[in-house]
Amino acid sequence: MELDNEFVKRINGLIDRVKHSMHKDINYNDIYLICSKLIALSKKCNYFSRNFFDDIQTKTSKEKSLKIALQFFKSIDREFYKKASNIINGKDDKYSLIIHEIPKGIPNTIKKEEEYQSKVGHEKGMVSVWLKGDIRDVYTIVHEIAHTFDFNNKYDKARTTCSDVLPECFEGMLDVFLTNKIPQNDLNKIELERYLKTIMYAFEYNVKYNFYDMKEKNGPLSAQMIRKVLRRYNTKPNNTFGFLYIDNQDINVPLRYVYAGIGADQFKKQFIKNSSKSVERLKKYIELIKENKSEEALKALGINLDPQLYKQSAQNFINFYEQNDIDGMER
Ligand SMILES: [Zn+2]
Repeated sequence: MELDNEFVKRINGLIDRVKHSMHKDINYNDIYLICSKLIALSKKCNYFSRNFFDDIQTKTSKEKSLKIALQFFKSIDREFYKKASNIINGKDDKYSLIIHEIPKGIPNTIKKEEEYQSKVGHEKGMVSVWLKGDIRDVYTIVHEIAHTFDFNNKYDKARTTCSDVLPECFEGMLDVFLTNKIPQNDLNKIELERYLKTIMYAFEYNVKYNFYDMKEKNGPLSAQMIRKVLRRYNTKPNNTFGFLYIDNQDINVPLRYVYAGIGADQFKKQFIKNSSKSVERLKKYIELIKENKSEEALKALGINLDPQLYKQSAQNFINFYEQNDIDGMER
């Protein structure tokens, strides 16, 4: 594997930014161990791409997606519904919803991913969503609106680690709401995509953490040392979803999606068993997150970060994927 000087320089710069993004209250090594277990779920995790299912059958319009999102919130809880409908109907004090549509036929590139990223700008009070034209748009709308429910205005540990847990719990509840309303095949693909995404983020986290750890121990990385890490993960500079080429390097981004993936998966199982109790737990969780009590909050939600539980539920989906050998996803 040939690595030019430019790439070596890039990786060293990347590690400096990774280090800079680390929060003093978080034990990053613990999370590295959790991620290692998730990665072991699939040999092919370095090929996963964020949007590789483009054959979802259930198409929707913007109006229809908003309507389904509202029906969903209504089915969950009165308070959540009120907040969501205020945002959707332009009556919220703080947040306004801005809807964009992704133009069709644009190749899937890193640039595109960055540009068409749905997000919440808390400072500007903006919930910005990019729609694709299928049922996944409802997930995007629900996810981004859920971000406004537990927002706390500090870059504390709770926000750094947990800010995607609640939105992904809402996605899990949406799976349940849509069951028997849309084809099961679409739901399977959406769920599989979510599992693969979590594993992909675990992979991204570990590659970055490994570089960081190596530099901490040995000083600036040489081409040889970088090669060693890439080989360990059976990957190449250009097929790691491009994350080595994105300049904004925050180790907490993959971290928070790993937390969200594991947590929301457990939450969904509880919700299926007892929906009203689960919604009460969500409210308790929100209170605690706003007080920066992330451990207590996760406990109140009834979840822990044990990757073993996650592995059990993810394995069936991953097996399905590996048997069907969906290829051509490298980007
Ligand atoms: Zn999010």
